[in-house]
Amino acid sequence: MIEGLLLPGMDEDSEPFFGFTAVQELRVQCCSDCSAARMPPRPMCPHCGSLESIWELLSGSGTIWSYCVPHGPLLPAYSALAPYNLIIVEIPEYPAIRFCGNLVASPNGEINELDPAGIRIGESVQVVFPEAVEGVVLPRWQRLEDGES
Ligand SMILES: [Zn+2]
Repeated sequence: MIEGLLLPGMDEDSEPFFGFTAVQELRVQCCSDCSAARMPPRPMCPHCGSLESIWELLSGSGTIWSYCVPHGPLLPAYSALAPYNLIIVEIPEYPAIRFCGNLVASPNGEINELDPAGIRIGESVQVVFPEAVEGVVLPRWQRLEDGES
């Protein structure tokens, strides 16, 4: 656990998402009327204007769509971790929805324990649910071993 990391906004719309990650479920907000998925969570469907939504459970699998290695100047907590990775994950259920996160070697691993030079677009990953900061479970991603997908 690292102090000083930026946390996502815990507003009324995002709170359910983190309630689900706390019980190790990755869910995406979907419109109750037209079924369109939306991320980040928000009150109104951008497709049909509906204010009704449900939270669809996802398999937690995905593929690395892109990634980067942040460079300084960084906030102190991040500077201490550099170099670390940031990945963008495409999910099979809703290809238009992508999650940002970190690739880790183990569920409670640090975000800088993998060499970013080894990351490849298209790699298969699976979500994991570490408690990144006390009381906050952020979804992170771990590689699927060969044959595990
Ligand atoms: Zn809609």
